[in-house]
Amino acid sequence: MAAGFSWNELGVDAARVHLIRPGEPSSSGHYVLYWCQVSHRVAFNHALQAAIALGNHLGKPVVCYQALRPDYPHASDRLHAFVLDGLAEFGNALRAAGVPYWLELPRSPAEHHPRLKQLATRAAAVVSDWHPTFVVPRHLAAAARVLEVPLFAIDAACVVPARLIPAAQVAAYALRPKLKKLWPHYLPQLPEGPAPERAAAAARIDLGFAPAEAPEKLRLELERFSIDHSVPPVTARPGGRAQALAQLRRFIADGLPQFDRARNEPSGAHNSGLSAALHFGLLYAGEVAHAALEALGPEHPGVATFLEELLVRRELGFNYCLYTPTAQQLRVTSLPPWAQGTLATHAQDKRAHLYSREQLERSETHDALWNAAQRQLRAEGRIYGYLRMLWGKKILEWSATPQEALDRMAFLNDRFALDGRDAVSVGNFMWVLGLHDRPFQDRPVLGKVRPMSSERTAEKVDLAPYMKRWGGLDASGFRMPRKRLRA
Ligand SMILES: Cc1cc2nc3c(=O)[nH]c(=O)nc-3n(C[C@H](O)[C@H](O)[C@H](O)COP(=O)(O)OP(=O)(O)OC[C@H]3O[C@@H](n4cnc5c(N)ncnc54)[C@H](O)[C@@H]3O)c2cc1C
Repeated sequence: MAAGFSWNELGVDAARVHLIRPGEPSSSGHYVLYWCQVSHRVAFNHALQAAIALGNHLGKPVVCYQALRPDYPHASDRLHAFVLDGLAEFGNALRAAGVPYWLELPRSPAEHHPRLKQLATRAAAVVSDWHPTFVVPRHLAAAARVLEVPLFAIDAACVVPARLIPAAQVAAYALRPKLKKLWPHYLPQLPEGPAPERAAAAARIDLGFAPAEAPEKLRLELERFSIDHSVPPVTARPGGRAQALAQLRRFIADGLPQFDRARNEPSGAHNSGLSAALHFGLLYAGEVAHAALEALGPEHPGVATFLEELLVRRELGFNYCLYTPTAQQLRVTSLPPWAQGTLATHAQDKRAHLYSREQLERSETHDALWNAAQRQLRAEGRIYGYLRMLWGKKILEWSATPQEALDRMAFLNDRFALDGRDAVSVGNFMWVLGLHDRPFQDRPVLGKVRPMSSERTAEKVDLAPYMKRWGGLDASGFRMPRKRLRA
């Protein structure tokens, strides 16, 4: 905590505040800088609200700076398009709220001039977003080394601030009761936050560098960016908060009532499709929970099942990443001892199939269902929930070592999935290898790690429409299992 004020007194929940660089806010600073990284929204954005509360307390205006760099891992037309779709809307909402928006959109790494230090020399303090994985911890640590004012990262991702759960949890059953105890406090609140008191002064502040071209213009000129052009945008899934809210309304009307029964259908028709919006912070998980509760009430089985995914399973991923150093998050050595032991015991087992990463990427395996799922991931940037588990499990079976499987899962998922590069991604890759799970019957290669098979999946869910859509050339050779046909 910086001396001289308490976050709680400013109306900001101190449990959301991660102190990255300590110090006193500079009295000569011209503004409080909100350095936006992952929460691309104005509504219910605890980080923006904390910046405004601090600005009001210090009598300073608040400004927002964001840099969409072209050189983060997996930067591609797909990810840039999804982000750019929403930035004009985000900037307009910020300006309407009295916060100038300073966007930097370098087209190549050479064009990227780290402005943060430059902007922070005029700032009283810097407030940013907290996310416990991918590039965010590194960016925060690097900023802390060069800033001379305090830097705070705010948890606007979890409904129950992640650090209120005091240690890494072994599984959902351990986390659930702890969260449920805190829901009565956190779930009813949709944070409104104060309005900036110095909006007029903020509007007069000189940026100090040439602003980026309009994001809506650059969205149409993706070829001008030095990013991976081989992963195209998913035109059917545009980014932006307005789109995310429309998707939320569709889900509440059509998917939520049947979510408990139909969420594993491979069509994904009854899933929310909101994970990318949550990843880029277009929506606050608490507002999604609110919408579900308001529509059907807490007793409805669809709502209860949905909240289990959105509030328990999702925050389990954040819990794992918070308590595991970033460099260790995707290491076999971070698995529970039973999983490490059983995978080591079976390290020398002969794999029935071994594929290169390129073969996997191109859907060139013997398994028609897996190939279809990978095809969907490449084309649409997602795989529906149940098949995504199967997708991960097979990569574990078809890789020479568990660590190689983890690396490949992370590469393929994070490269193609719109919702990748998230704490939820990390938690689930590790789940494939046994994290947050229990031992099963011992078998070759997987040992006691939970198995999944394409044949059993085909018995459980109707894959015919899915294979028709994503089966490619494999589709004609794909046979429904007898059991399923009888059903
Ligand atoms: C190998 C593997 C990789 C995955 N990678 C990602 C990823 O990169 N990003 C990601 O957000 N999710 C990932 N998941 C979890 C899950 O598959 C997705 O969250 C879900 O399919 C997203 O679709 P939806 O938004 O329609 O979810 P819904 O079924 O509508 O669920 C609502 C929300 O609950 C949360 N949720 C749902 N399932 C899970 C789960 N198993 N674990 C944690 N949270 C969950 C998500 O935030 C989701 O948006 C992965 C799962 C596996 C097995």
